[in-house]
Amino acid sequence: MAATSDQVFVGSIDQGTTSSRFLIFDKAGEPVAVHQEEFTQIYPNPGWHEHDPDEIVKSVENCIEGAVKIFEEKGFSKESIKAVGITNQRETTVVWDVKSGEPLHNAIVWTDTRTAALARELKARPDSDKLTDICGLPISTYPSVTKLLWLLRNSEKVRKAYEAGNLAFGTIDAWLIYKLNGGPSKDVFVSDPTNASRTMFMDIHTLKYSDKMLDFFSYEFDIRKIHLPEIVRSADKKSFGQLSSGPLKDFPITGCLGDQSAALVGQKGFDPGSAKNTYGTGCFLLYNVGEKPVISTHGLLATVAYDFDGKPVYALEGSIAVAGSGVKFLMHNLGFSHASHKITELAETVKDNGGLVFVTAFSGLFAPYWIDDAHGTMFGITHHTERGHIARATLEAVCFQTKAILDAMEKDSGHKLNELKVDGGMSNSTLCMQTQADLVGIPIVRPKMRETTALGAAIAAGFAAEVWKNFDELKEVNTAGQTVFEPKMEEAASKKMFKKWERAVTMCKGWLAEE
Ligand code: ADP
Repeated sequence: MAATSDQVFVGSIDQGTTSSRFLIFDKAGEPVAVHQEEFTQIYPNPGWHEHDPDEIVKSVENCIEGAVKIFEEKGFSKESIKAVGITNQRETTVVWDVKSGEPLHNAIVWTDTRTAALARELKARPDSDKLTDICGLPISTYPSVTKLLWLLRNSEKVRKAYEAGNLAFGTIDAWLIYKLNGGPSKDVFVSDPTNASRTMFMDIHTLKYSDKMLDFFSYEFDIRKIHLPEIVRSADKKSFGQLSSGPLKDFPITGCLGDQSAALVGQKGFDPGSAKNTYGTGCFLLYNVGEKPVISTHGLLATVAYDFDGKPVYALEGSIAVAGSGVKFLMHNLGFSHASHKITELAETVKDNGGLVFVTAFSGLFAPYWIDDAHGTMFGITHHTERGHIARATLEAVCFQTKAILDAMEKDSGHKLNELKVDGGMSNSTLCMQTQADLVGIPIVRPKMRETTALGAAIAAGFAAEVWKNFDELKEVNTAGQTVFEPKMEEAASKKMFKKWERAVTMCKGWLAEE
Protein backbone atom coordinates (compact mmCIF):
# COMPACT_ATOMS: atom_id res chain seq x y z
CA MET A 1 0.00 0.00 0.00
CA ALA A 2 1.52 3.30 -1.06
CA ALA A 3 1.46 6.33 1.21
CA THR A 4 -0.91 9.17 0.57
CA SER A 5 0.82 12.53 0.42
CA ASP A 6 -0.57 13.71 3.78
CA GLN A 7 0.52 10.58 5.67
CA VAL A 8 3.23 11.21 8.25
CA PHE A 9 5.38 8.79 10.21
CA VAL A 10 7.73 8.80 13.20
CA GLY A 11 10.78 6.56 13.58
CA SER A 12 11.68 5.01 16.92
CA ILE A 13 15.01 3.57 18.04
CA ASP A 14 14.40 1.03 20.83
CA GLN A 15 17.76 0.08 22.29
CA GLY A 16 16.92 -2.73 24.77
CA THR A 17 19.03 -4.99 26.97
CA THR A 18 19.11 -7.92 24.58
CA SER A 19 18.26 -6.38 21.24
CA SER A 20 17.97 -3.14 19.31
CA ARG A 21 15.01 -2.28 17.09
CA PHE A 22 13.92 0.44 14.75
CA LEU A 23 10.21 0.88 14.16
CA ILE A 24 8.38 3.30 11.93
CA PHE A 25 4.94 4.25 13.28
CA ASP A 26 2.08 5.91 11.45
CA LYS A 27 -0.06 8.56 13.14
CA ALA A 28 -2.51 5.92 14.36
CA GLY A 29 0.36 4.31 16.31
CA GLU A 30 0.63 1.26 14.05
CA PRO A 31 4.17 0.04 13.29
CA VAL A 32 4.47 -0.16 9.49
CA ALA A 33 8.11 -1.31 9.35
CA VAL A 34 10.33 -3.01 11.94
CA HIS A 35 13.86 -4.34 12.01
CA GLN A 36 15.41 -5.97 15.09
CA GLU A 37 18.90 -7.23 15.89
CA GLU A 38 20.21 -9.07 18.94
CA PHE A 39 23.71 -8.21 20.13
CA THR A 40 26.34 -9.91 22.30
CA GLN A 41 25.76 -10.38 26.01
CA ILE A 42 29.12 -10.50 27.76
CA TYR A 43 29.32 -12.24 31.15
CA PRO A 44 33.05 -12.10 32.09
CA ASN A 45 32.55 -13.30 35.71
CA PRO A 46 29.62 -14.47 37.85
CA GLY A 47 27.38 -11.46 38.43
CA TRP A 48 29.11 -9.36 35.75
CA HIS A 49 27.24 -8.25 32.62
CA GLU A 50 28.68 -6.09 29.84
CA HIS A 51 27.86 -4.80 26.35
CA ASP A 52 30.19 -3.56 23.65
CA PRO A 53 29.21 0.14 23.16
CA ASP A 54 30.32 0.14 19.50
CA GLU A 55 28.31 -3.01 18.77
CA ILE A 56 25.25 -1.30 20.26
CA VAL A 57 25.66 1.68 17.91
CA LYS A 58 26.22 -0.64 14.94
CA SER A 59 23.12 -2.67 15.78
CA VAL A 60 21.04 0.53 15.89
CA GLU A 61 22.43 1.67 12.53
CA ASN A 62 21.65 -1.75 11.02
CA CYS A 63 18.11 -1.60 12.39
CA ILE A 64 17.50 1.84 10.87
CA GLU A 65 18.79 0.59 7.53
CA GLY A 66 16.71 -2.60 7.68
CA ALA A 67 13.44 -0.91 8.69
CA VAL A 68 13.77 1.94 6.17
CA LYS A 69 14.33 -0.66 3.44
CA ILE A 70 11.10 -2.47 4.41
CA PHE A 71 9.30 0.88 4.63
CA GLU A 72 10.35 1.84 1.10
CA GLU A 73 9.59 -1.63 -0.25
CA LYS A 74 6.04 -1.13 1.03
CA GLY A 75 5.83 1.94 -1.19
CA PHE A 76 6.30 4.65 1.43
CA SER A 77 8.66 7.55 1.02
CA LYS A 78 11.21 8.16 3.76
CA GLU A 79 10.57 11.90 3.38
CA SER A 80 7.27 11.28 5.19
CA ILE A 81 9.20 10.35 8.37
CA LYS A 82 8.97 13.58 10.37
CA ALA A 83 11.21 12.79 13.33
CA VAL A 84 13.07 10.06 15.19
CA GLY A 85 12.75 9.19 18.89
CA ILE A 86 15.06 7.15 21.11
CA THR A 87 14.28 4.85 23.99
CA ASN A 88 16.90 2.80 25.75
CA GLN A 89 17.90 0.43 28.53
CA ARG A 90 18.52 2.63 31.57
CA GLU A 91 21.43 2.82 34.09
CA THR A 92 23.80 0.94 31.76
CA THR A 93 27.02 2.91 31.99
CA VAL A 94 29.29 3.96 29.13
CA VAL A 95 32.62 5.81 29.46
CA TRP A 96 34.50 7.31 26.55
CA ASP A 97 37.27 9.70 25.64
CA VAL A 98 35.95 13.13 24.67
CA LYS A 99 38.77 13.71 22.20
CA SER A 100 38.52 10.49 20.21
CA GLY A 101 34.90 9.57 20.95
CA GLU A 102 36.11 6.01 21.57
CA PRO A 103 34.76 3.88 24.45
CA LEU A 104 37.27 3.19 27.24
CA HIS A 105 35.62 0.03 28.56
CA ASN A 106 32.69 -2.24 27.81
CA ALA A 107 29.42 -0.78 29.05
CA ILE A 108 28.46 -2.11 32.48
CA VAL A 109 24.86 -3.26 32.20
CA TRP A 110 22.14 -2.35 34.72
CA THR A 111 21.87 -5.97 35.92
CA ASP A 112 25.58 -6.19 36.85
CA THR A 113 26.26 -6.83 40.57
CA ARG A 114 30.07 -6.46 40.71
CA THR A 115 29.55 -3.30 42.77
CA ALA A 116 27.84 -5.01 45.74
CA ALA A 117 30.82 -4.30 48.06
CA LEU A 118 31.12 -0.74 46.76
CA ALA A 119 27.41 -0.19 47.41
CA ARG A 120 27.89 -1.41 51.00
CA GLU A 121 30.84 0.96 51.38
CA LEU A 122 28.76 3.90 50.11
CA LYS A 123 25.85 3.03 52.39
CA ALA A 124 28.20 3.16 55.38
CA ARG A 125 29.26 6.77 54.59
CA PRO A 126 27.78 9.69 56.57
CA ASP A 127 24.45 11.01 55.26
CA SER A 128 23.98 8.15 52.80
CA ASP A 129 20.41 7.80 54.11
CA LYS A 130 19.59 11.35 52.95
CA LEU A 131 20.29 10.73 49.28
CA THR A 132 16.98 9.10 48.34
CA ASP A 133 15.09 12.29 49.24
CA ILE A 134 17.16 14.16 46.66
CA CYS A 135 17.46 11.72 43.79
CA GLY A 136 14.64 9.23 44.38
CA LEU A 137 16.87 6.13 44.42
CA PRO A 138 18.51 4.16 47.23
CA ILE A 139 22.17 3.22 46.97
CA SER A 140 22.49 -0.22 45.37
CA THR A 141 24.32 -1.93 42.53
CA TYR A 142 21.56 -0.72 40.20
CA PRO A 143 22.10 3.02 39.47
CA SER A 144 24.90 4.12 37.15
CA VAL A 145 26.99 5.82 39.82
CA THR A 146 28.31 2.63 41.44
CA LYS A 147 29.30 1.31 38.01
CA LEU A 148 31.13 4.54 37.18
CA LEU A 149 33.01 4.51 40.51
CA TRP A 150 33.98 0.89 39.89
CA LEU A 151 35.39 1.81 36.47
CA LEU A 152 37.40 4.70 37.94
CA ARG A 153 38.89 2.38 40.56
CA ASN A 154 39.53 -0.63 38.37
CA SER A 155 40.29 0.48 34.82
CA GLU A 156 43.61 2.18 34.19
CA LYS A 157 42.37 3.46 30.84
CA VAL A 158 39.40 5.12 32.48
CA ARG A 159 41.53 6.62 35.25
CA LYS A 160 44.06 8.03 32.77
CA ALA A 161 41.29 9.73 30.78
CA TYR A 162 39.89 11.07 34.06
CA GLU A 163 43.27 12.46 35.11
CA ALA A 164 43.72 14.09 31.69
CA GLY A 165 40.25 15.66 31.99
CA ASN A 166 39.01 13.70 28.96
CA LEU A 167 36.58 11.28 30.58
CA ALA A 168 32.96 11.37 29.42
CA PHE A 169 30.27 9.38 31.22
CA GLY A 170 26.81 8.74 29.86
CA THR A 171 23.89 6.35 29.95
CA ILE A 172 22.98 4.58 26.67
CA ASP A 173 20.80 7.48 25.46
CA ALA A 174 23.67 9.97 25.80
CA TRP A 175 26.11 7.58 24.12
CA LEU A 176 23.76 6.84 21.21
CA ILE A 177 22.81 10.47 20.63
CA TYR A 178 26.49 11.46 20.73
CA LYS A 179 27.56 8.75 18.27
CA LEU A 180 24.56 8.99 15.93
CA ASN A 181 25.23 12.73 15.63
CA GLY A 182 28.80 12.00 14.53
CA GLY A 183 30.76 11.89 17.82
CA PRO A 184 33.38 14.46 18.83
CA SER A 185 33.10 16.53 15.64
CA LYS A 186 29.50 17.51 16.54
CA ASP A 187 29.73 16.97 20.29
CA VAL A 188 25.98 16.62 20.93
CA PHE A 189 26.16 15.45 24.53
CA VAL A 190 22.75 15.37 26.21
CA SER A 191 20.47 13.14 28.26
CA ASP A 192 16.80 13.49 29.21
CA PRO A 193 15.57 13.52 32.85
CA THR A 194 14.10 10.00 32.69
CA ASN A 195 17.60 8.70 32.00
CA ALA A 196 19.61 11.22 34.04
CA SER A 197 17.45 10.45 37.09
CA ARG A 198 18.88 6.89 37.06
CA THR A 199 22.49 7.94 37.62
CA MET A 200 21.99 9.28 41.20
CA PHE A 201 23.54 12.59 40.17
CA MET A 202 20.27 14.40 39.39
CA ASP A 203 17.99 16.21 41.83
CA ILE A 204 14.60 14.76 40.99
CA HIS A 205 12.82 17.93 42.13
CA THR A 206 14.77 20.37 39.93
CA LEU A 207 15.88 18.02 37.10
CA LYS A 208 19.40 19.45 37.45
CA TYR A 209 22.62 17.91 38.68
CA SER A 210 22.64 18.10 42.46
CA ASP A 211 25.66 19.57 44.25
CA LYS A 212 24.90 17.43 47.29
CA MET A 213 24.88 14.25 45.21
CA LEU A 214 28.06 15.18 43.33
CA ASP A 215 29.79 16.05 46.64
CA PHE A 216 28.71 12.78 48.25
CA PHE A 217 30.20 10.67 45.46
CA SER A 218 33.39 12.77 45.05
CA TYR A 219 35.31 11.41 48.05
CA GLU A 220 37.83 9.49 45.96
CA PHE A 221 37.40 10.95 42.46
CA ASP A 222 36.07 14.41 41.67
CA ILE A 223 32.88 13.75 39.72
CA ARG A 224 32.94 17.38 38.48
CA LYS A 225 36.11 16.54 36.55
CA ILE A 226 34.09 14.10 34.44
CA HIS A 227 32.13 15.34 31.41
CA LEU A 228 28.45 14.75 32.14
CA PRO A 229 25.69 15.19 29.55
CA GLU A 230 23.51 18.28 29.68
CA ILE A 231 19.99 17.40 30.91
CA VAL A 232 17.32 18.48 28.41
CA ARG A 233 13.56 17.85 28.04
CA SER A 234 12.32 14.46 26.78
CA ALA A 235 10.64 16.11 23.78
CA ASP A 236 12.84 18.75 22.22
CA LYS A 237 13.16 20.06 18.68
CA LYS A 238 16.81 21.09 18.80
CA SER A 239 18.83 19.54 21.64
CA PHE A 240 19.13 15.96 20.33
CA GLY A 241 20.62 16.95 16.97
CA GLN A 242 20.23 14.79 13.89
CA LEU A 243 21.40 11.51 12.37
CA SER A 244 24.75 11.96 10.67
CA SER A 245 24.73 8.92 8.37
CA GLY A 246 22.63 6.10 6.94
CA PRO A 247 19.34 6.26 5.03
CA LEU A 248 17.93 8.86 7.46
CA LYS A 249 20.98 11.17 7.31
CA ASP A 250 20.04 14.70 8.50
CA PHE A 251 16.69 13.53 9.94
CA PRO A 252 16.08 15.17 13.36
CA ILE A 253 16.06 13.29 16.66
CA THR A 254 13.36 15.04 18.71
CA GLY A 255 12.48 12.70 21.56
CA CYS A 256 14.23 10.61 24.20
CA LEU A 257 12.87 8.52 27.07
CA GLY A 258 14.31 5.74 29.22
CA ASP A 259 12.60 2.47 28.30
CA GLN A 260 10.26 2.20 31.27
CA SER A 261 9.10 5.80 31.01
CA ALA A 262 8.60 5.23 27.29
CA ALA A 263 6.39 2.20 27.99
CA LEU A 264 4.23 4.29 30.36
CA VAL A 265 3.87 6.93 27.63
CA GLY A 266 3.22 4.22 25.00
CA GLN A 267 0.45 2.84 27.23
CA LYS A 268 -0.86 6.43 27.46
CA GLY A 269 -0.44 6.44 31.24
CA PHE A 270 -0.80 10.24 31.31
CA ASP A 271 -3.28 10.46 34.20
CA PRO A 272 -2.17 10.25 37.83
CA GLY A 273 -3.13 6.81 39.12
CA SER A 274 -2.51 4.95 35.85
CA ALA A 275 0.12 2.22 35.82
CA LYS A 276 1.86 -0.23 33.53
CA ASN A 277 4.07 -3.25 34.03
CA THR A 278 6.63 -4.18 31.36
CA TYR A 279 7.84 -7.80 31.33
CA GLY A 280 11.07 -7.62 29.32
CA THR A 281 14.55 -8.79 30.35
CA GLY A 282 13.63 -7.38 33.75
CA CYS A 283 10.17 -6.23 34.80
CA PHE A 284 9.24 -2.67 35.71
CA LEU A 285 6.02 -1.31 37.13
CA LEU A 286 5.52 2.45 36.81
CA TYR A 287 2.68 4.30 38.50
CA ASN A 288 1.95 7.90 37.47
CA VAL A 289 1.91 10.11 40.59
CA GLY A 290 1.46 13.46 38.83
CA GLU A 291 3.49 16.64 39.01
CA LYS A 292 5.29 16.02 42.32
CA PRO A 293 7.69 13.16 43.02
CA VAL A 294 6.66 10.74 45.77
CA ILE A 295 9.61 9.48 47.79
CA SER A 296 8.75 5.91 48.73
CA THR A 297 8.93 4.60 52.27
CA HIS A 298 8.21 1.03 51.11
CA GLY A 299 11.12 0.13 48.83
CA LEU A 300 10.01 1.76 45.57
CA LEU A 301 11.88 4.28 43.48
CA ALA A 302 10.86 7.82 42.60
CA THR A 303 11.52 8.46 38.94
CA VAL A 304 10.65 10.88 36.14
CA ALA A 305 7.87 9.64 33.87
CA TYR A 306 8.48 12.33 31.22
CA ASP A 307 9.18 16.01 30.76
CA PHE A 308 7.59 17.15 27.51
CA ASP A 309 7.10 20.84 28.24
CA GLY A 310 9.02 21.84 31.37
CA LYS A 311 6.23 20.49 33.62
CA PRO A 312 7.67 17.11 34.54
CA VAL A 313 5.44 14.20 35.47
CA TYR A 314 6.68 11.67 38.00
CA ALA A 315 6.21 7.99 38.70
CA LEU A 316 6.68 5.53 41.51
CA GLU A 317 8.61 2.56 40.19
CA GLY A 318 8.93 -1.05 41.21
CA SER A 319 11.93 -2.69 39.50
CA ILE A 320 12.43 -6.45 39.16
CA ALA A 321 15.87 -7.49 37.92
CA VAL A 322 15.00 -10.88 36.42
CA ALA A 323 11.94 -11.56 34.26
CA GLY A 324 12.53 -12.67 30.65
CA SER A 325 16.19 -13.23 31.54
CA GLY A 326 14.93 -16.05 33.80
CA VAL A 327 13.23 -17.60 30.75
CA LYS A 328 16.48 -17.19 28.79
CA PHE A 329 18.39 -18.81 31.66
CA LEU A 330 16.18 -21.91 31.35
CA MET A 331 16.78 -21.92 27.60
CA HIS A 332 20.49 -21.18 27.35
CA ASN A 333 21.97 -22.40 30.64
CA LEU A 334 19.70 -25.36 31.38
CA GLY A 335 18.88 -26.29 27.77
CA PHE A 336 15.11 -26.48 28.41
CA SER A 337 14.17 -25.35 24.88
CA HIS A 338 15.18 -23.09 22.01
CA ALA A 339 12.28 -20.66 22.09
CA SER A 340 10.78 -18.49 24.83
CA HIS A 341 7.19 -19.52 24.11
CA LYS A 342 8.22 -23.18 24.61
CA ILE A 343 9.06 -22.35 28.24
CA THR A 344 5.44 -21.27 28.71
CA GLU A 345 4.32 -24.47 26.94
CA LEU A 346 6.53 -26.47 29.31
CA ALA A 347 4.99 -24.65 32.30
CA GLU A 348 1.56 -25.58 30.96
CA THR A 349 2.39 -29.31 31.15
CA VAL A 350 1.96 -29.19 34.95
CA LYS A 351 -1.18 -28.08 36.80
CA ASP A 352 0.65 -26.00 39.41
CA ASN A 353 4.17 -25.37 40.72
CA GLY A 354 4.19 -28.67 42.65
CA GLY A 355 5.44 -26.87 45.77
CA LEU A 356 8.44 -25.37 44.01
CA VAL A 357 9.40 -21.73 44.58
CA PHE A 358 12.24 -20.24 42.53
CA VAL A 359 13.64 -16.95 43.82
CA THR A 360 15.33 -15.81 40.61
CA ALA A 361 17.69 -13.44 42.43
CA PHE A 362 20.52 -13.66 39.89
CA SER A 363 21.28 -9.96 40.39
CA GLY A 364 20.25 -9.72 44.02
CA LEU A 365 16.64 -8.78 44.64
CA PHE A 366 15.40 -5.35 43.60
CA ALA A 367 12.09 -3.75 44.63
CA PRO A 368 10.62 -3.76 47.12
CA TYR A 369 13.25 -5.88 48.90
CA TRP A 370 16.63 -4.40 47.82
CA ILE A 371 18.75 -7.36 48.96
CA ASP A 372 22.08 -7.05 47.11
CA ASP A 373 23.37 -10.36 48.44
CA ALA A 374 20.27 -12.46 47.66
CA HIS A 375 21.09 -15.38 45.39
CA GLY A 376 19.08 -17.45 42.98
CA THR A 377 17.54 -20.19 45.13
CA MET A 378 15.03 -22.99 44.50
CA PHE A 379 12.95 -24.26 47.39
CA GLY A 380 10.83 -27.38 47.56
CA ILE A 381 12.59 -29.73 45.10
CA THR A 382 11.36 -33.33 45.50
CA HIS A 383 11.32 -36.55 43.42
CA HIS A 384 8.06 -35.16 41.99
CA THR A 385 9.79 -32.05 40.51
CA GLU A 386 9.85 -31.87 36.71
CA ARG A 387 11.13 -29.32 34.25
CA GLY A 388 7.55 -28.05 33.90
CA HIS A 389 7.50 -27.09 37.58
CA ILE A 390 10.77 -25.19 37.20
CA ALA A 391 9.42 -23.37 34.14
CA ARG A 392 6.25 -22.51 36.01
CA ALA A 393 8.12 -21.34 39.11
CA THR A 394 10.30 -19.11 36.89
CA LEU A 395 7.25 -17.37 35.43
CA GLU A 396 5.62 -17.15 38.86
CA ALA A 397 8.69 -15.46 40.40
CA VAL A 398 7.98 -12.32 38.35
CA CYS A 399 4.30 -12.39 39.30
CA PHE A 400 5.12 -12.69 43.03
CA GLN A 401 7.50 -9.73 42.88
CA THR A 402 4.90 -7.69 41.00
CA LYS A 403 2.39 -8.50 43.77
CA ALA A 404 4.92 -7.33 46.41
CA ILE A 405 5.47 -4.11 44.44
CA LEU A 406 1.74 -3.42 44.09
CA ASP A 407 1.29 -3.91 47.84
CA ALA A 408 4.11 -1.41 48.48
CA MET A 409 2.62 1.02 45.97
CA GLU A 410 -0.75 0.88 47.69
CA LYS A 411 0.96 1.74 50.99
CA ASP A 412 2.93 4.63 49.45
CA SER A 413 0.07 6.11 47.45
CA GLY A 414 -2.94 5.17 49.56
CA HIS A 415 -4.70 3.92 46.40
CA LYS A 416 -5.46 0.47 45.07
CA LEU A 417 -5.13 0.05 41.33
CA ASN A 418 -8.27 -0.84 39.34
CA GLU A 419 -6.35 -2.58 36.58
CA LEU A 420 -2.80 -3.08 35.41
CA LYS A 421 -1.70 -2.52 31.82
CA VAL A 422 1.06 -4.84 30.66
CA ASP A 423 3.52 -5.20 27.79
CA GLY A 424 7.02 -6.54 27.05
CA GLY A 425 8.10 -9.90 25.58
CA MET A 426 7.09 -12.03 28.54
CA SER A 427 3.55 -10.62 28.52
CA ASN A 428 3.10 -12.86 25.45
CA SER A 429 2.81 -15.69 27.97
CA THR A 430 -0.91 -16.10 28.62
CA LEU A 431 -0.18 -18.43 31.54
CA CYS A 432 2.06 -15.81 33.13
CA MET A 433 -0.55 -13.06 32.70
CA GLN A 434 -3.38 -15.22 34.13
CA THR A 435 -1.14 -16.08 37.11
CA GLN A 436 -0.49 -12.37 37.53
CA ALA A 437 -4.22 -11.57 37.61
CA ASP A 438 -4.78 -14.38 40.13
CA LEU A 439 -2.04 -13.11 42.43
CA VAL A 440 -2.89 -9.40 42.40
CA GLY A 441 -6.67 -9.79 42.25
CA ILE A 442 -7.25 -7.07 39.61
CA PRO A 443 -7.70 -7.33 35.82
CA ILE A 444 -4.54 -7.43 33.71
CA VAL A 445 -4.96 -5.56 30.40
CA ARG A 446 -2.69 -6.56 27.50
CA PRO A 447 -2.79 -4.44 24.33
CA LYS A 448 -2.75 -6.08 20.91
CA MET A 449 0.26 -4.06 19.76
CA ARG A 450 2.88 -4.61 22.45
CA GLU A 451 5.71 -2.45 21.10
CA THR A 452 4.62 0.20 23.59
CA THR A 453 8.18 1.17 24.61
CA ALA A 454 9.03 2.10 21.03
CA LEU A 455 5.64 3.78 20.62
CA GLY A 456 6.38 5.93 23.70
CA ALA A 457 9.62 7.23 22.17
CA ALA A 458 7.77 7.90 18.92
CA ILE A 459 5.14 9.85 20.87
CA ALA A 460 7.84 11.97 22.57
CA ALA A 461 9.51 12.69 19.21
CA GLY A 462 6.12 13.23 17.55
CA PHE A 463 5.07 15.82 20.14
CA ALA A 464 8.22 17.88 19.51
CA ALA A 465 7.74 17.59 15.75
CA GLU A 466 4.01 18.40 16.11
CA VAL A 467 2.86 15.15 14.52
CA TRP A 468 0.57 14.95 17.55
CA LYS A 469 -0.29 18.16 19.36
CA ASN A 470 -1.90 16.89 22.57
CA PHE A 471 -2.83 13.76 24.52
CA ASP A 472 -6.40 13.85 23.15
CA GLU A 473 -5.12 13.09 19.66
CA LEU A 474 -3.71 9.81 21.02
CA LYS A 475 -7.02 8.58 22.43
CA GLU A 476 -7.65 5.98 19.77
CA VAL A 477 -4.02 4.87 19.49
CA ASN A 478 -3.55 1.17 20.31
CA THR A 479 -6.92 0.58 21.97
CA ALA A 480 -8.47 -2.04 19.68
CA GLY A 481 -8.09 -5.75 20.34
CA GLN A 482 -6.76 -5.75 23.89
CA THR A 483 -7.00 -8.89 26.07
CA VAL A 484 -8.24 -8.67 29.65
CA PHE A 485 -7.21 -11.36 32.17
CA GLU A 486 -9.68 -11.45 35.08
CA PRO A 487 -8.61 -12.98 38.41
CA LYS A 488 -9.93 -16.54 38.68
CA MET A 489 -8.17 -18.08 41.67
CA GLU A 490 -9.75 -18.18 45.14
CA GLU A 491 -8.25 -15.42 47.28
CA ALA A 492 -7.22 -17.88 50.01
CA ALA A 493 -5.25 -20.01 47.55
CA SER A 494 -3.56 -16.95 46.07
CA LYS A 495 -2.62 -15.66 49.55
CA LYS A 496 -1.17 -19.05 50.46
CA MET A 497 1.04 -19.08 47.36
CA PHE A 498 2.31 -15.58 48.09
CA LYS A 499 3.07 -16.41 51.73
CA LYS A 500 5.31 -19.25 50.56
CA TRP A 501 7.14 -16.87 48.23
CA GLU A 502 7.73 -14.42 51.08
CA ARG A 503 9.21 -17.19 53.23
CA ALA A 504 11.50 -18.14 50.35
CA VAL A 505 12.69 -14.51 50.04
CA THR A 506 13.68 -14.39 53.69
CA MET A 507 15.74 -17.56 53.20
CA CYS A 508 17.69 -16.63 50.06
CA LYS A 509 20.09 -14.06 51.53
CA GLY A 510 23.72 -14.09 52.57
CA TRP A 511 24.85 -17.28 50.77
CA LEU A 512 28.29 -15.81 50.06
CA ALA A 513 28.65 -14.03 53.42
CA GLU A 514 30.97 -16.73 54.86
CA GLU A 515 33.44 -16.69 51.94
P1 ADP B 1 14.07 -6.23 26.29
O1 ADP B 1 13.42 -5.04 25.63
O2 ADP B 1 14.35 -6.05 27.75
O3 ADP B 1 15.25 -6.76 25.55
P2 ADP B 1 11.63 -7.71 25.44
O4 ADP B 1 10.47 -6.88 25.84
O5 ADP B 1 11.98 -7.81 24.00
O6 ADP B 1 12.94 -7.40 26.31
O7 ADP B 1 11.28 -9.18 25.98
C1 ADP B 1 12.14 -10.23 25.74
C2 ADP B 1 11.99 -11.27 26.84
O8 ADP B 1 10.67 -11.83 26.83
C3 ADP B 1 12.97 -12.40 26.60
O9 ADP B 1 13.71 -12.62 27.79
C4 ADP B 1 12.07 -13.60 26.26
O10 ADP B 1 12.62 -14.79 26.79
C5 ADP B 1 10.75 -13.25 26.94
N1 ADP B 1 9.59 -13.86 26.22
C6 ADP B 1 9.16 -13.58 24.96
N2 ADP B 1 8.08 -14.36 24.64
C7 ADP B 1 7.82 -15.14 25.74
C8 ADP B 1 6.83 -16.15 26.04
N3 ADP B 1 5.89 -16.52 25.18
N4 ADP B 1 6.89 -16.75 27.27
C9 ADP B 1 7.84 -16.39 28.17
N5 ADP B 1 8.78 -15.44 27.94
C10 ADP B 1 8.78 -14.82 26.75
